[in-house]
Amino acid sequence: MKLKIACIAGDGIGPEIVREARKVLDKVAQCFGHEIEYTDILMGGASIDVHGVPLTEEAVSAAKAADAVLMGSIGGDAATSPWYKLSPERRPEAGLLGIRKALNLFANLRPAILYPELSGACPLKTEISDKGFDMLIMRELTGGLYFGERKTVEENGVRKATDTLVYDENEIRRIAVKGFAIAQKRKKKVTSVDKANVLDSSRLWRNVVEEVAKDYPEVALEHMLVDNCAMQLVKDPAQFDVILTENMFGDILSDEASMVTGSIGMLASASLNDTKFGLYEPSHGSAPDIAGKDIANPIATVLSAAMMLRYSFDLDKEADAVEAAVQEALKAGYRTADIMSEGCRRVSCTEMGDLLVERVHK
Ligand code: NAD
Repeated sequence: MKLKIACIAGDGIGPEIVREARKVLDKVAQCFGHEIEYTDILMGGASIDVHGVPLTEEAVSAAKAADAVLMGSIGGDAATSPWYKLSPERRPEAGLLGIRKALNLFANLRPAILYPELSGACPLKTEISDKGFDMLIMRELTGGLYFGERKTVEENGVRKATDTLVYDENEIRRIAVKGFAIAQKRKKKVTSVDKANVLDSSRLWRNVVEEVAKDYPEVALEHMLVDNCAMQLVKDPAQFDVILTENMFGDILSDEASMVTGSIGMLASASLNDTKFGLYEPSHGSAPDIAGKDIANPIATVLSAAMMLRYSFDLDKEADAVEAAVQEALKAGYRTADIMSEGCRRVSCTEMGDLLVERVHK
C-alpha cells in the first residue's frame, strides 16, 4: 500500500519526536511491504520564522493532498519566545486551530492507557491501578459551548455573560457513528456521557446516540451523566472502553483520564473528519524546557503514528506491531527520563526510537 503522509514536525521537541516516529513507520513499511511518501509542512513557530504566519494556504493544501497528517507539537515558551509578542491570530497556536478548521476535524480521540510497567506513575490507589485500564475518549471538537453564540452585556449596572450550547442532530450523529465504528475495533462498549437530566442538548445527544446504536448491535451502549463519569474515572477506570461525549465534557474528562495514567509522554491523540483522513499528534505540548536535548519521550508520537495506521489506513496488524514494540521496550526496562523509575535503564529520545524500531516485526 502507498501511504501519503504529511509531517508537521513543529516546534520545541516536535522535530525530535517526529523523527523517531518516522523511523518506526519506515520499519513498519519495510516489514509489511508498504511505501511511504512524506511531505514536510511548516506550521506554528517554525512557519512564523519562515513565512511570518503560523499556517499558510500552501501548508493547508499540502495537508489536504495527503492521506493523513503526523504532527509533533507547536508553540514555544510564552514568557521568552518572540512568537508571543505577535497578535493572537499570528501566534503558533492559531496555526493548529486553523488547520483543524480547514480539515474539518470534528472528532478528537484520546486513548488513556495504564501500562502495567508504568503503574507506579498512576496517582490512584494500587487496588485500582493494579487492574490497569485502556480507554479512549472520543470528544466532539467543532460544536457545542465553545462555538455557540456568546456575549457580555451590562444591564442596569450589572454585567451579564451568555454562552450558548448548540448541537444539531447531524453533528451528534457523525461523531456517534465514528464512536461506534471505533468501539467495534476495540472492546465493543460505548459509554455516552451527557447531562440529560438537565440539558436539552444532552437529551438530543442521548436520542441520536440511541438511534445510531441500532446499527451496531454487537456494541454495548450505556449512558452516564458527566458528573458520575468524572467520579468513575478515578474510582473504576477499568470499566471504560470508548467514552463518547460532547466538546466541553470531553475537554475536561480527557484531561482527567490522561492525568490518571500519570505519564504525559505516553499519550497519543487523533483528530478525524468524516473521511479516513486524520491528524495524529501526541497529547502533550512542545516541551520547550527540554527541546534539543534528546531526552524527550517519543512514545506518544509513535503511538499516534500507530493510531494513524489503524484509523486512516485500516492497517490493524501494523498498528498492533507498533503497540507491541512499545510494550516490549517497556517490559525490557527501557525508559526515557520522564518515566524513569528505579531498576530501569535510562535512554535518550533517539535510543528509544532505535529500541522501538528493533522491536517492530511482522
Ligand atoms: P508541555 O506538554 O509541552 O510540557 C509540560 C511538561 O511535560 C514539561 O515539563 C515538559 O518537559 C514535559 N513533557 C511534555 N512532553 C514530554 C515528552 N514527550 N517527553 C518528556 N517530557 C515531556 O506543556 P506546556 O509546557 O504547557 O506547553 C509548552 C508549549 O506547548 C506551549 O507553547 C503550548 O501552547 C504548546 N502546546 C502545544 C500543543 C499542541 O501542539 N497540540 C498542546 C499543548 C501545548
